[in-house]
Amino acid sequence: MSILSLRRINKKYGQAKVFAVNEVSFDVEEGEILALVGESGSGKTTLLRLIAGLEHPDDGTISLAGQVIVQGKESVPPHDRKVGMVFQDYALFPHLTILENVTFGIAKSKGNPEQLAKDTLKLVGLTEDFKKYPHQLSGGQQQRVALARAIAPNPRILLMDEPFSNLDAMLKDQVREEIRQIIKKTGITAIFVTHDTKDALSTADRIAILHKGYLQQIDIPKNLYETPVNPYVANFFGKRNELLATPSEDGFYTSFGFITDLEAKKYKRQVKLLFRPEHGEVVQREGQQLSGKIVKVSYFGSHQLVKISDDEGFRVTIRTNPGRIFDEVERTFFYLWKYDIEEAF
Ligand code: ADP
Ligand code: MG
Repeated sequence: MSILSLRRINKKYGQAKVFAVNEVSFDVEEGEILALVGESGSGKTTLLRLIAGLEHPDDGTISLAGQVIVQGKESVPPHDRKVGMVFQDYALFPHLTILENVTFGIAKSKGNPEQLAKDTLKLVGLTEDFKKYPHQLSGGQQQRVALARAIAPNPRILLMDEPFSNLDAMLKDQVREEIRQIIKKTGITAIFVTHDTKDALSTADRIAILHKGYLQQIDIPKNLYETPVNPYVANFFGKRNELLATPSEDGFYTSFGFITDLEAKKYKRQVKLLFRPEHGEVVQREGQQLSGKIVKVSYFGSHQLVKISDDEGFRVTIRTNPGRIFDEVERTFFYLWKYDIEEAF
């Protein structure tokens, strides 16, 4: 069931020439984690602020938990929307202890607010130090406090702006997994913003990708990566090779050799074969494969990227396992086990 629904949301700031958010419509299902991705300036933060009620759209409708919260000039004020927000810089109150920070938003709620605040801090993995002030905590701990403060009032939806961007790489992998577990444990619906595709692919149930304020695609991570709706989405999730190919009856002629493919005869003119580095395989022996010269090998620990050049100096990049040893300038063979075919002109 959908808990949040956006319909044709447009937002332009003051005298700006272009819209920050353009005709954006999507639904978020109850209990799901949605990642909002896009380059800097693509409208991610604006979209979160529109949902939270910190900005008002020029037009469009937003419904939350069956209630219309934005329509035309009408809107439900932020504090009545029951939206939890974790800001990019955490925005903790510096002069309040972490317990006071979390208790602040629930002070008027029924029961025992302080106990609820303590329980929520424990839930996010903070078990002591309740009397410390934010500046006495690490970045990762401050973020947990911000998360506890956002979820303690039991919001209908949790919004997080770039929750992983201030964490260093080693901490990030761990925090990503922990935050996902906390959110799943509470069953809360969440939207988080990130410009890092790794964050989105590994943490979200679904991903929405924005470009210049327009929603490009919203789908499960695997589909976004494997069946992108346009070249922008495809390239956002990692570079693709583009190899020119001339079709014939039984395959494609390329500058690295011939690829047998009965699909080729469907095409009349030159095409582009689009493939990711992991969709190729470097092989030892000559055969029905492509060949070229290895011009560069880059080692990444978990894998290597091998750049292979044709006679004219045009290069493709193929991924291999990290254990293989290559000599640069060596002639090598490779094949493609997957590619998309696109009309070149
Ligand atoms: P993102 O979070 O994806 O980086 P933003 O939503 O912050 O993108 O910004 C989208 C566009 O709106 C950008 O062009 C940005 O410069 C502009 N913008 C954002 N906030 C404001 C503001 N308060 N006033 C004017 N323009 C803004
Ligand atoms: Mg932003």
